[in-house]
Amino acid sequence: MPGLPGLASQCAVCHSWPSEQVCRPCLTRFMSGPPCCAVCALPLPALLTMEVPPAAARLCAACLRQRPPMDATLAAVPYAYPWSGLISRYKFGEQPGWAGFFAGLLLQTPGAQQALDELDPQDWLLPLPLSAERLQWRGFNQAWELASALARQSRTRGQADTRLLLRPRHTRPQSQLGRQARLANVRGAFQVDPLRAGELDGRRVVLVDDVMTSGASLFAAAQALRDAGAAHITAVVVARTQ
Ligand SMILES: [Zn+2]
Ligand SMILES: [Zn+2]
Repeated sequence: MPGLPGLASQCAVCHSWPSEQVCRPCLTRFMSGPPCCAVCALPLPALLTMEVPPAAARLCAACLRQRPPMDATLAAVPYAYPWSGLISRYKFGEQPGWAGFFAGLLLQTPGAQQALDELDPQDWLLPLPLSAERLQWRGFNQAWELASALARQSRTRGQADTRLLLRPRHTRPQSQLGRQARLANVRGAFQVDPLRAGELDGRRVVLVDDVMTSGASLFAAAQALRDAGAAHITAVVVARTQ
């Protein structure tokens, strides 16, 4: 994994030195989470996972009841210590350089490299867009930085694009809302550029974001892609809440 000048000398978790941004022992210790739902990446109860071993067949109760608009979700790490802190630092601390590290984590996640390899030159690697207001406030789109780092590190043939899936409407931050309110808040918030909708017809999409909490934003974005005719959608996120 490539280091960053000034950050590469010390592990950001245990502060051992010299080290990559996060040292090998910390990666081993904190990376793995419980078995997850193949569609929404929610951790599954232990009983259920004993019954159904193949990863692709594992679905949570909510996805069995109502299939979300994406075909699969891959999460690199649980949204917990130390990742939650590192992601906040990346997103709110003006440290876009961490995108390369998180993209490296994603590429080590089972299935992620394959999802990127399966993209043809007419397929898409799309970040979850920010509204213009939020982009201006934050200064960068953390999902776009991740998507570009993924494109560079994986050499996928899919096109990374930030103007195909749009977020024309500014919505309240999801973190201030409960689950039902989150769903309502982002309903219809995403839109495929109407002049380019044909570019999604029958195509595969890898949809990228940093954190998946309720999933409401990713579900709404995936639905907009599905409505434009996307044939297969894989969401990839750095961290999933447990
Ligand atoms: Zn460490
Ligand atoms: Zn699920």
